[in-house]
Amino acid sequence: MIYIANWKMHGNSRDIESLNPIIKLSKQKKYRNIKLVYCPPYTLLDLMKRKFINSKIHVGAQNCHFNSEYGAFTGSINSKMLKSIGTKYVIIGHSENRTDGDNDLIINKKIKSALQENLKVILCIGETLFEKRNKLTKKILKKQIKNSLYKVKKVENIIFAYEPRWAIGTGIIPKTKTLTKNIIDIKKILISVNKKLNSAKILYGGSVNSQNVKEIVKIKGIDGFLVGGASLNSKKFIDIIKKSIN
Ligand code: PEP
Repeated sequence: MIYIANWKMHGNSRDIESLNPIIKLSKQKKYRNIKLVYCPPYTLLDLMKRKFINSKIHVGAQNCHFNSEYGAFTGSINSKMLKSIGTKYVIIGHSENRTDGDNDLIINKKIKSALQENLKVILCIGETLFEKRNKLTKKILKKQIKNSLYKVKKVENIIFAYEPRWAIGTGIIPKTKTLTKNIIDIKKILISVNKKLNSAKILYGGSVNSQNVKEIVKIKGIDGFLVGGASLNSKKFIDIIKKSIN
């Protein structure tokens, strides 16, 4: 199982101490095989990496610029910079960045630049409420996957996070039947786009908490979770891990 903590625009240097319980958990025999990735804001990447130095927890960024080279892009960070400070993962295509203007073409460029730097990509895909209501989910997922992966090599370094955009931060999650179907559809689309994606990892994200995770984890094909709000609190994040492993 893979657990990604997305801190979004939260956290400062004092919050690093709150990671002690998760470091402790990661060293327990029972949890030795889970993969844990923390994605703090850029400002905390280096500090967090140092904090995790004697553990197997990785750090990831929440985004990167699409340009692989340095350049005149005020306020931006690219994958080369992320790599240079030991970042291993990067979230690309998060709903909140799609809302801010990321489209499939930009996402495709970001993926290529991240993979070029040997970062592992966590690619977020998912439909809006409007698209869900108009029964467009499968079509949208297909479009997002196909366009994002256009001429992408090294697809084996991509983890997919299915995050219905209407489920992020709302406390609402898809019905089990719908989620089961969407995961099956994603799997089929991935294989149709590239056979190498036969064993791709698919995570679920969107309002995951320690209560609903027990049901979601039973769904076949879900290999882990991308957790936003609940990951800010170590106890809540640990509860999610424990409830989905037991
Ligand atoms: C996210 O940030 O990707 C996310 C799923 O957030 P939340 O868990 O708060 O819905």
